[in-house]
Amino acid sequence: MTTVIKNARASDGQITDIFIKDGIISEIGLTRSIADKKLDAEGRLVIPGIIDPHVHFRMPGEEYKEDWESGSMAAIAGGVTTVLDMPNNQPPTTTVERFSKKRRMIAGKSYVNYGLYIGATEDNIDELINARGAVGIKIYLGSSTGGLLVRDYKVVERILERATCVVACHSEDEQCLQKIQNAKFKMQNYGTVAEIHDAMRPDECAIESAQKLVAILQKIKKPLYICHVSSPGELAVFLSAKQKGLPIYLEATPHHLFLDIQNSDQLGNFVRVNPPIRSASSRLSLQNALIEGFIDTIGSDHAPHTIDEKNRSYTDSPSGMPGIETILPLMLDFARLKKFTIQNLIRCMCENPARIFGIERRGAIRQGYFADIVIVDQDLTRVVETNRMYTKCGWSAFAGRSITGFPYATIVNGEIAFLRGRIVGNPAGRDVMARN
Ligand SMILES: [Zn+2]
Repeated sequence: MTTVIKNARASDGQITDIFIKDGIISEIGLTRSIADKKLDAEGRLVIPGIIDPHVHFRMPGEEYKEDWESGSMAAIAGGVTTVLDMPNNQPPTTTVERFSKKRRMIAGKSYVNYGLYIGATEDNIDELINARGAVGIKIYLGSSTGGLLVRDYKVVERILERATCVVACHSEDEQCLQKIQNAKFKMQNYGTVAEIHDAMRPDECAIESAQKLVAILQKIKKPLYICHVSSPGELAVFLSAKQKGLPIYLEATPHHLFLDIQNSDQLGNFVRVNPPIRSASSRLSLQNALIEGFIDTIGSDHAPHTIDEKNRSYTDSPSGMPGIETILPLMLDFARLKKFTIQNLIRCMCENPARIFGIERRGAIRQGYFADIVIVDQDLTRVVETNRMYTKCGWSAFAGRSITGFPYATIVNGEIAFLRGRIVGNPAGRDVMARN
């Protein structure tokens, strides 16, 4: 089976053809070879498929919020060709047995390529180490959705010492969160949800956790991936450690980059996420850190909940928001307006996640690599509408926002999976950690 993408515009402006044979990029350059299928990019920008290192597809156990079919369709509609899925399921993915079961459940049903995390508890280190094929180990240092939690930093130390895959942290200090939440309990009656949530989970808890993690890394120099950095204080701690050569990788989410307390005060619980949306000045310093090259990856933290769940009172509403269908459009829009280039976008959203997580032969358009490719309509301006979306939850904090730059076609393992707003392929996604 062969496919050719004609008239593709590379990020350096060159027009080229990409020839694909049996799912692999076999030739780049103007080609006269005849292919079984032809897709004309008509001079549109062509970039590697996005690797989203942080999603929650809610399977098993919470398929009423999202299931693998809807989540993986949403992914390819958003230009994402590989997702790394988190372990806070029901039951949580914390044993080799549950990990293998989840892997079997997904096999053959996914429109997008995937890797799966295994989740840390305070006493499952042997399970973590024996989960062959896990893309990473997830540690929740502060309680969030799903009940996974590690309070004891000695456990983090032991996991890092023995880990053979990336260790990823939700970095908010639980003791600090508890102290603040007890003291501020009455605040729940005042202010907007965004203001209350930021006050209940302030910057200082993220800073405290950052300092403790850096102290551990000074002893054990193993790679540590920090999920969703959200504030300048936290960034400063991690950046000074990075500058001293410690192997820290920082992820930012589009919601922390493009939403703040001031611009989302009408959204109530729909902007309730952990760590919280911060102030406008925090948002701008995160954007600057991205422009300066201090942020390694962009993760959607796609974490759907139903509209009913979000309409409950602040105390009863779960944290998290969907984001996989808006991650690439928002970043393309940012790349138009700021000193953030398409090359920067490719580095953070394709090359870096592949390198950090050891995903082989993906994250670049290169001969011999899997043909995971997105053709982009860089000049298409559209208002974000939830009725065009594939996520089951049916809402987006970015609905109503005008964005320029959307995926035109998504190619997964050489198959055209999404074209002009429609899913056209089959569930041909593969486990990126499965070794042939
Ligand atoms: Zn998450």
